[in-house]
Amino acid sequence: MRRVRTGASFDVLVVGSGASGLAAAVSAGRAGARVGLATKTTLQACNSAKAQGGIQAAFGEDDSPAMHAEDVMRSSHDTASPRLVDVLTSEAPTAIHWLEELGVEFTRSNGGYRLARCGGASRKRLLQVGDRTGHAITKALRENYEAGSGAELPHHALSELRATEHGWTATFQTKDDDSVEIEAGAIVLAAGGRCYAEAETRGELSTNHPNATGEVTRIAMKAGAEARDLDALQYHPNGGAWPATMQGYSIPETTRAFGAVLVNADGEEFTGSLGPRDAVSQAIFEEVEKGKGILTPDGRPAVWLDTTRIAPEDAEISLPYMLRRYRGVGIDPLAEPMYTYPVLHYQNGGLVIDEHAETTLEGVFACGEIAGGTHGRNRMMGNSLLECTVFGRRAGRTAAERARA
Ligand SMILES: Cc1cc2nc3c(=O)[nH]c(=O)nc-3n(C[C@H](O)[C@H](O)[C@H](O)COP(=O)(O)OP(=O)(O)OC[C@H]3O[C@@H](n4cnc5c(N)ncnc54)[C@H](O)[C@@H]3O)c2cc1C
Repeated sequence: MRRVRTGASFDVLVVGSGASGLAAAVSAGRAGARVGLATKTTLQACNSAKAQGGIQAAFGEDDSPAMHAEDVMRSSHDTASPRLVDVLTSEAPTAIHWLEELGVEFTRSNGGYRLARCGGASRKRLLQVGDRTGHAITKALRENYEAGSGAELPHHALSELRATEHGWTATFQTKDDDSVEIEAGAIVLAAGGRCYAEAETRGELSTNHPNATGEVTRIAMKAGAEARDLDALQYHPNGGAWPATMQGYSIPETTRAFGAVLVNADGEEFTGSLGPRDAVSQAIFEEVEKGKGILTPDGRPAVWLDTTRIAPEDAEISLPYMLRRYRGVGIDPLAEPMYTYPVLHYQNGGLVIDEHAETTLEGVFACGEIAGGTHGRNRMMGNSLLECTVFGRRAGRTAAERARA
C-alpha cells in the first residue's frame, strides 16, 4: 500500500471510502488499473460501516430477481429507473457471492442464508451479518484493497473537478490545508449523500456520519453532470428517540421483520409494520399529529416500537448489537418497548447514471448514495448496500476499461 502526498496520476481515481468506493477501487484494481482511493478523513469513516440491518438478494425458493425488481418499483411508486433496477436485482446473487469471496460471512441457518423480510418486500430476502452487516462488508472490502497495489489518499477532500484532454483533474484540500491536484483517466465519485448536513440545517436528528455533507454532488453538477430526485430525502421510520444517547441511532428495521410492531399511546397498532419506509414514517408523523403519540422524557415526539414481541433467539442471532447498545444504557428491548420517531437517513436521488454507473460526463462514474435512479424517490431497506456493491463493481470495472482506451 502506497500513500500519496501530492501531484500523482492514476488510471482510476475513486473519491470516497464507503462500500461503493471500496467496491469500485477493488474491482478497478482487479481489472488491472492503477488506482488511487481518496477520502475526506480516514478510510474507515463513512455511513456504510454504520449499516446494520442487511443487504437484499433473491435467494429464497419462492423468490426471484424479477420479484425483487417488482418490489423495488412498487416501493419507489414507479419512479425508479427500470434499467437500473434490472441490473440491481439480477446481479444481486452474484454480488453476494463476490462479497463472500472477499471474506464476508453472512449469517446462515438451516443450511442456507438466514433471510428476513424487510419493509416493502413481498418475500424474505434480507441477508445479514448479525446486525453489523455494513461493518463486515466495508472491513472485507478495505482489507482486500489494502492488500493490493492501490494507493490511499486519506484526508483528501475533493473540491473541484476539471476535464482535461486525457481525462480529469481533481483538486483536493488536505488536512494541512494544502491544495493538491491529481490527474486521472477516469474518476469514480462515491462520496455518499448529504443527510448529516441537511439535518443540521433543519435542526433535526440524523442517522448519518458527519462526513455525509453532499459537496461532491454539487462539484459534479458544477462540472456539468446531471442529477435527479435530489429533493427526495428519506426518513428512517425508527430513529432512537430516548435515552438521549440513542437519539439519531437507527433501530434496525429487522426489529420489525422479527415481530416488533409500532403502537400509539393507547397501545394500539396504527400501521402495517412491514410497509415501505415512506408509508411507515408518514403513519408515525400522522399519529403524533392526531395527538396519539407519546413524549420522551426530554419532550420529543415519539411512538412505541414494541420490541418485546421479538423472540429472544431471533434477537440474539439478528440483533445482538442493538441489544448491547440499549442494554448498555439500561433499557432491555426484550422486556420493555422503545421510544422511536423518524430521523433523516438517506438521499434517494443523486447523479444520473447509466447501467455502467457512468454519469452524463464521459469518464466520470458515480455509485452508491451519490447516484440517483436505482431507488427512484423511495428506497427499500437493504438495497443501498446492494447498490454500492453492484454499481461499485460496475463503476470500477468500466472506469478501468475507459482509462485504458
Ligand atoms: C445508520 C445507518 C444504517 C443503515 N443501514 C442500512 C442497511 O441495513 N442496509 C442498507 O442497504 N443500507 C443501510 N444504510 C444506508 C447505506 O449504509 C448507505 O446509504 C450506503 O452505505 C452509502 O454508501 P456510500 O459508499 O455511497 O457512501 P458512504 O458510506 O457514506 O461513504 C462516503 C465516503 O465519501 C467520503 N467523502 C464525502 N465527501 C467527500 C469529499 N468531499 N472528498 C472525499 N471524500 C468524501 C466520506 O468520508 C466517506 O468515506 C444505512 C445507513 C445508515 C447511516
